[in-house]
Amino acid sequence: MLRLHDTALGKIVALEPRRPGQVSMYVCGPTVYDEPHLGHGRFALVWDVMRRYLEWSGLAVRFVSNVTDIDDKIIERAQREGRSAEDVANQYEKAWYEALDALGVRRPDDDPHATAYVTQMVDLVGELMQRGTAYETTDGVYFAVSEVDDYGLLARQSLESLQSGARVEVTEEKRSALDFVLWKKAKHDDEPQWPSPWGAGRPGWHTECVVMALDLLGEDFDLHGAGIDLAFPHHENERAQAVALGRPFARRWAHSGFVLGPGGVKMSKSLGNYTSLTDLLARTDPSAYRLLVLQSHYRAPLEVGPVAMERAERSLEGLDELARRTAGMEASPGAAALEEFQSHMDEDLGTAPATALMFDLRARANAALDGGDLRTGGSLAAAALEISRAFGLELGAGNDRMDDQTARLVAERDSARASGDYARSDTIRDELAANGWIVKDTPDGTRVHHRRPGSLG
Ligand SMILES: [Zn+2]
Repeated sequence: MLRLHDTALGKIVALEPRRPGQVSMYVCGPTVYDEPHLGHGRFALVWDVMRRYLEWSGLAVRFVSNVTDIDDKIIERAQREGRSAEDVANQYEKAWYEALDALGVRRPDDDPHATAYVTQMVDLVGELMQRGTAYETTDGVYFAVSEVDDYGLLARQSLESLQSGARVEVTEEKRSALDFVLWKKAKHDDEPQWPSPWGAGRPGWHTECVVMALDLLGEDFDLHGAGIDLAFPHHENERAQAVALGRPFARRWAHSGFVLGPGGVKMSKSLGNYTSLTDLLARTDPSAYRLLVLQSHYRAPLEVGPVAMERAERSLEGLDELARRTAGMEASPGAAALEEFQSHMDEDLGTAPATALMFDLRARANAALDGGDLRTGGSLAAAALEISRAFGLELGAGNDRMDDQTARLVAERDSARASGDYARSDTIRDELAANGWIVKDTPDGTRVHHRRPGSLG
């Protein structure tokens, strides 16, 4: 069974689902006001790998991830660009799913939208008011964090130390700087708004996920995840509302790490690095980003830049090649290799050692095949490819069917080489490369396969 680092406990513990054989997961999704960035891509990939691995282990997974389609940032953009908030949200939700589809991130089982849950959110705020855990001010309704005994659990800090570090907001009627907004009263008639007992307005972000997670997954659901930037205050505040209502919330909390530019510096355009996830996907192979994410621990910071991406693309080509080399071979993966894979993954989703194992299996498979040991080679290759499948890596096997012109060039190149005309052979290689083919010299002559879609030219 998977053991996972629980942010609330600060240590690695067994997942222990509430119902044996089933895992319910909630991952905070995007606020759709802009193009997705590299960090979004990383956390989406991490939770996709987690979901796929749990399923690979034989568990039934219910995966819920929301779309925040009403928010200050959406409204600001809509006003700036003279269009409706709905229009902005639709555009960037589409961009979000296009990027995630390209990355091979499976769609959630449910993707609840905030605007479809406003009535339930108003009910929840009303209940908190009744219990005296929330209070009204001139601009909205706030949650009083001092009402929750263990507030600070996810921040791994006491309420006192959080209070002393918080900014003092003198202009507000808030009782504590840490108190957070549950309901925002509308300031203008032309901003999106819904009716409530406290006047027309819109719900606060932290209320959204509590309502949706409890509605779709029920109390005491198994796992709540997101990027580490959401642990505090977002998850702390989600949890505080559930605690105040006496409703068991997430059993486990897990968070993935930041994305940094090359050399560990903050991402920056001036370094020639990717400006958005969309930009990265236009310039590189989407599967290479998945591999790069797999090669580091999900909680560690991840450095992303063109050099790292190119290295990942080359590593993938080695796997592609193995898939092509063993296509049609009937071999099953060795049990020992898959057990080793599972033992790495079960220890806090150890994708880095599991990926190293996959490449080691690949090298050993090739060595065995080179030596003519098809049985051993086939079994090692099957294990490497089974692991890549469990990771959700799309390999390019079968992607090398040549059109007539390419087949003619390949044949021409082989005869040029046979007659020692290397200049001609190189010219043809360049022509094939310009047409999007990767060209390899093998003992059997020229072999070509397609560059992966979108990969660097
Ligand atoms: Zn959330």
